[in-house]
Amino acid sequence: MPRLTRDQLLTELQRRSGRTISLVLTSNACTYVTFTTARQPLRLRLQRLFLDAPDEVLDALARWLSGREKCCPPQVREFIDSPPAHVQRVTRSKRRWIHHRGRCHDLARILDQVNRRFFLGRVAVQITWGRSASRRNVRARTLGAYYFGEHIITINPVLDQPQIPEWFLAFTVYHECLHSFQSGRGRPHDRKFQADLRRHPDYAAAVRWEKANIRLLTRRPDYERATWRVRLGRFLADQLNFPW
Ligand SMILES: [Zn+2]
Repeated sequence: MPRLTRDQLLTELQRRSGRTISLVLTSNACTYVTFTTARQPLRLRLQRLFLDAPDEVLDALARWLSGREKCCPPQVREFIDSPPAHVQRVTRSKRRWIHHRGRCHDLARILDQVNRRFFLGRVAVQITWGRSASRRNVRARTLGAYYFGEHIITINPVLDQPQIPEWFLAFTVYHECLHSFQSGRGRPHDRKFQADLRRHPDYAAAVRWEKANIRLLTRRPDYERATWRVRLGRFLADQLNFPW
């Protein structure tokens, strides 16, 4: 689990910088810190890995936010370049592209809401749409997957359709978030997992909805190719968006 919750991180940064901050945590694979100093409150977008930043990194970041440093302080730079061991795989992972903005649904936004509502902001994973809508996977009820080594949740792109309600996606994301707290050994859907899953307020509705809409979930969306082109464009745009 990360060292700080989202609220603790926000409190620390406000205290150290003397600024009022509106904080959004991202799972962005390319851009780690984005803010504009002119605005009040200061709007800050930070990569989730800062939940594990040590005090000296928070101090340096706060100096930068307050305007006492004119560019990215070396402590922050170094932290981004070599994050703590357990998050390293996430941010260094080059094998997957992270596409959280789908044609209809933004997974990062959904993950952020689920994380705050049910996990006190402690889920430290990235989320992405999977590479292609696989009928086979849907038939096997694999709407999402969690990759332990990479700390990445992938969601089957068959769910990126306007007919899929956001609450159902949020439930699927919640399911994968639960896996992120497991050890990776033993049966993933054991009794404890089932009990945690049932605790979700939409559990019964989600089971009913999935059964009633199985045809929708086993259909391959016909816009798939077009979607990929848009996503590639966005990915490149993100990459050019380094703030330093
Ligand atoms: Zn599962």
